Amino acid sequence: MNKQPRMIDADKLLVWIELTHESKLPAGSHGLGIKEALRAVKRHIGNGTFDPDPIPLPTIKPYKCSNCKETSPRDEWNKKTIEYYGGYDQIDDIILLGEDEEEGDTFICPVCGEEQPRHMVEVIPNE
Ligand SMILES: [Zn+2]
Repeated sequence: MNKQPRMIDADKLLVWIELTHESKLPAGSHGLGIKEALRAVKRHIGNGTFDPDPIPLPTIKPYKCSNCKETSPRDEWNKKTIEYYGGYDQIDDIILLGEDEEEGDTFICPVCGEEQPRHMVEVIPNE
């Protein structure tokens, strides 16, 4: 079972109530009957009037090691790479994945620990 709950955007509902309330109320009347109002809300929920706007998914592009074939996020590759090269004086010069890396740069796989040249680390695109 992978049934997602249906969400509504509370702000859209409140705006709709406000607009409906103001526009549908003739002076001196008590407005829509409760049953009529609930039917209208139900109809608009069915129409998607209050559906939330889609939330953009974060961009997570895992990098695949050509040695062990495992994929890991960029941060894990960079953490391992810094640990590996960190003994050098040039710690600030360590090139990180996803920055200004070039073909000749090498990175350390966080899974198998193998040193991988950039062209051997495959970026797996998001679906
Ligand atoms: Zn690996």
